[in-house]
Amino acid sequence: MTDADGRHPRPLTRIVATLGPRTDSPLVLRRTIAAGTSIVRLNFSHGSLDDHAERLAAVRAVESELGVAVAVLGDLRGPRIRIGRVAPRGVRLRVGEEVEFRGQASAGRRTAAVLPVTEPRILEDLRVGHRVLIADGTIRLRVLRASRGRATASVEVGGIVHAGKGLNLPDSRVSLPLLGAHEEDCTRWAVASRLDFLAMSFVRHAEDLRSLRRLIDRCGGRRSGWRPQIVAKVERPEAIESIDSLVRAADAVMVARGDLGSEMGLEAVPRLQRRILSAAQACGRPTIVATEVLASMQRHAQPSRAEVGDLARAVLDDADAIMLSGETAVGRHPALVVSTAATVLARAEQWRAEDARASPTPQSAGRATAALAHAAWHLARDLRAVMVLVDARDREIVRELGQNGLAVPIVPVGDEPEEIRALLLHRGVLPLVIPRGIDREAAVDLARRMARDRFGLAAGEGPTVVVGRLVHGGVRPVPPLRGDRR
Ligand code: PGA
Ligand code: MN
Repeated sequence: MTDADGRHPRPLTRIVATLGPRTDSPLVLRRTIAAGTSIVRLNFSHGSLDDHAERLAAVRAVESELGVAVAVLGDLRGPRIRIGRVAPRGVRLRVGEEVEFRGQASAGRRTAAVLPVTEPRILEDLRVGHRVLIADGTIRLRVLRASRGRATASVEVGGIVHAGKGLNLPDSRVSLPLLGAHEEDCTRWAVASRLDFLAMSFVRHAEDLRSLRRLIDRCGGRRSGWRPQIVAKVERPEAIESIDSLVRAADAVMVARGDLGSEMGLEAVPRLQRRILSAAQACGRPTIVATEVLASMQRHAQPSRAEVGDLARAVLDDADAIMLSGETAVGRHPALVVSTAATVLARAEQWRAEDARASPTPQSAGRATAALAHAAWHLARDLRAVMVLVDARDREIVRELGQNGLAVPIVPVGDEPEEIRALLLHRGVLPLVIPRGIDREAAVDLARRMARDRFGLAAGEGPTVVVGRLVHGGVRPVPPLRGDRR
């Protein structure tokens, strides 16, 4: 989808796209990024570290070819429990039938249906009455008997179970470690490869995030000083219980609606999404709304109306970013998915901006940097500025601007690509890398022209508001560039 001028619309909401076999074609990857991807996800649940290393190199190549900044998010798999080996055609479960869960090796005599699981230790955590959900909750069982590492459950919703399908145990206190050997290998690689973000699955409380920080330090973070920002994936009931302290301990927060929906019920997700986003926004953590965002586009060239509504909901909830999973990793047309998301987000942002109630005046609580950011916010809004320019090192200003529903793009400029990438998760941020060693005046001038050429922000159509160290720690509106109308 393109706008009336035939260009891709530029929404303020960031787009995270998961890479996979489908984006391994250089042409597909280039188009997927050009369509408006700010952040790519390397999903450590699938593929080897060699695969991820190749994808990372391909992203860096496209980044310099297109002259855009792209951040990379590594996603740690965590204790995902799966069905072990079963017959190639799967095992059919009928309602009311009894099924026994066992460890991989002991699939033994078949009195009832037997399902092996990849992590037999979890069988110790099952109690009578606990739910066992298979394949994103499409197949559901309830435990009837459990003792000494064996559990029998009765089928409540049937279906065919295939090897490798995921299990959710929403009622059980699962004792598997969140950071096992696989996570350690992936973390070491993520630090060595200088990934910008590292996401942690199935987080339960703030202490889990602190243990990932320690792991990052042990895996080269302390030695190299490179520490990826930590994204907490909220998808467990325990995480909801301690959401306020959990989000404070994270650098960013993902509403991981796939597992969240399985564990807490689909009908709970809209409310939980709002709750999680509010908690994160209250302490200034950027947010990602994830999973089945445009799921039907994995096959089709059009989204469903429900998906369009869901994306608009994310805008109304002030999410900083949305994430595409299978839609881009294994879908038929990844670039079309990204441009469709961009179009829908841009339109929702437009009518949200027209709605005056949607922009409450930001509160600074006596913090000088926040107050400065808010001064820029007011100027940009009242003067109908085309952009707010800020030095990329003024991270606090960028964060404040992004947090307060400003309908004007925020353009951080800097000469450090890694500093720029760290800002890519904030709503409304369109960063620019400029050459080293130019003075402030020249940087402002150059950045305005670059923003026009790269992002279509016509600096001749309204003033630019400059804030922070680019204008000696103040805030100043700069008049439109003369003779620069489109
Ligand atoms: P996943 O996380 O795709 O790694 O499972 C997202 C989710 O659960 O929604
Ligand atoms: Mn998940």
